[in-house]
Amino acid sequence: MSWFRTVVIKSFTKHSCPSKFTSFPRTPFVSLMNFSSEPTHEAKKSSEIVQYSGLGPTRPNEKPRVVVLGSGWAGCRLMKGLDTDVYDVVCVSPRNHMVFTPLLASTCVGTLEFRSVAEPIGRIQPSISTAPGSYFFLANCKGIDTEEHVVHCETMTDGADNLPPWSFKISYDKLVIASGAEASTFGINGVKEHAIFLREVSHAQEIRRKLLLNLMLSDVPGISEEEKKRLLHCVVIGGGPTGVEFSGELSDFIIKDVHERYSHVKDYINVTLIEANEILSSFDVRLRQYAMRQLTKSGVRLVRGVVKDVQSHKIILDDGSEVPYGLLVWSTGVGPSPFIRSLEFPKSPGGRVGIDEWLRVPSVEDVFAIGDCGGFLESTGKQVLPALAQVAERQGKYLSGLLNRIGKDGRGRANSLGGIDLGDPFVYKHLGSMATVGRYKALVDLRQSQDTKGLALAGFASWFIWRSAYLTRVISWRNRFYVAVNWATTFVFGRDISRI
Ligand SMILES: Cc1cc2nc3c(=O)[nH]c(=O)nc-3n(C[C@H](O)[C@H](O)[C@H](O)COP(=O)(O)OP(=O)(O)OC[C@H]3O[C@@H](n4cnc5c(N)ncnc54)[C@H](O)[C@@H]3O)c2cc1C
Repeated sequence: MSWFRTVVIKSFTKHSCPSKFTSFPRTPFVSLMNFSSEPTHEAKKSSEIVQYSGLGPTRPNEKPRVVVLGSGWAGCRLMKGLDTDVYDVVCVSPRNHMVFTPLLASTCVGTLEFRSVAEPIGRIQPSISTAPGSYFFLANCKGIDTEEHVVHCETMTDGADNLPPWSFKISYDKLVIASGAEASTFGINGVKEHAIFLREVSHAQEIRRKLLLNLMLSDVPGISEEEKKRLLHCVVIGGGPTGVEFSGELSDFIIKDVHERYSHVKDYINVTLIEANEILSSFDVRLRQYAMRQLTKSGVRLVRGVVKDVQSHKIILDDGSEVPYGLLVWSTGVGPSPFIRSLEFPKSPGGRVGIDEWLRVPSVEDVFAIGDCGGFLESTGKQVLPALAQVAERQGKYLSGLLNRIGKDGRGRANSLGGIDLGDPFVYKHLGSMATVGRYKALVDLRQSQDTKGLALAGFASWFIWRSAYLTRVISWRNRFYVAVNWATTFVFGRDISRI
């Protein structure tokens, strides 16, 4: 096979010809100046030759370039659908995979392994790692110059030793902003410092490690009764689908695994779910009541309250009561990220990037926004769509079709859209909502809105529908296989409780 490897390496080297990378003159890296307040002659000289590199504008003999910011539901669905015979695709994102968020809560307690919910981008759009002009860059976009058709990015070095982040630019023909949203904290003191969010695989890993650490520490001699209770008190803030599903998973873990394998501390571990209003407010009232009964039966304490302050070992509610905790998970919805807030485009209600019915940012040429970061402008007369994977995914699919048509019409280059007829606008039809509540029970609400008629059920049959639906939605056959095997392993042998 060595001949085969040589051919592959040669063709790869040919493809990745650096001629596409141009150097833009730039000011010196700030980090170079950190060594001394007064730079030496050598430092000045070397800093002058530091170039601000990147991908320059596409040439006439190259394909037009679509730059995608983000590798979430919206960005990945878009990249999957883009015709790579028409476009080169460049994705900029701080993570090299897509997270299958509906199953993320299950990874926190070991029902599923982390790998089962992460899909590498190269599998979703293989061209990104093989085609000559398509790339994935592990970086954050820091700014957009719509006049020059350029995005400014900074690498994600994740604290790697001796490797300060550096900046680069990418010219685009079409730009799609799909950078998602960030967890809302409502400016409450201490949330960012002490609570764990549940949005990324790294968050789920942090939750699992903390939970298992607390379980083990609480069994060590010398710990007081009070401290043991605190360490084993898991508090979840936010009664939306994510908070409820996580509480359900946690109670399943306690009932099935802690009782069997940490029986010394089984009477100390508790779960409290705190919500300011109704839990699962988007669901039918009958389903909500079912969920509340089910969670209470599983030992989850439901508390109505508003968090005022978060301290390292306790939270303070608006009625002055104090709730000590060992693990605090924060899941109270999302809002615009600092990057989205920094963009000077007209915004939709709620502060998202304002878009029209074709998902364009209408104030500038060749820029689109999809998923949780985009929202219809008030002038469209349409409501901002909910922050859901089903919205993001369908916007990604719609926009890939639109961009493919534009490209095939010969309008894929920058500033070439002119007065093109974009065809039908994007229309969203809600397919329904689902949530598990633990103990093989779930809610399925297939009504398009709370006022319309349709199927709304709860119980074991719903749980079966929930599992089957998500198993078929998992992006690849590889991960579908992982998920099915993880579920079967957990059912037969219990969850993995090793703290790795
Ligand atoms: C635990 C959990 C469970 C959920 N369950 C469901 C469910 O069951 N059903 C449902 O419909 N929805 C669900 N959701 C909501 C759904 O996941 C989101 O609506 C969806 O992820 C939005 O997709 P997106 O592509 O807009 O953003 P995301 O999926 O968040 O992706 C954003 C991407 O942008 C990247 N990024 C961020 N900043 C930058 C930057 N400056 N430059 C470049 N890239 C950047 C991020 O790293 C990420 O790759 C759930 C969410 C969570 C957290």
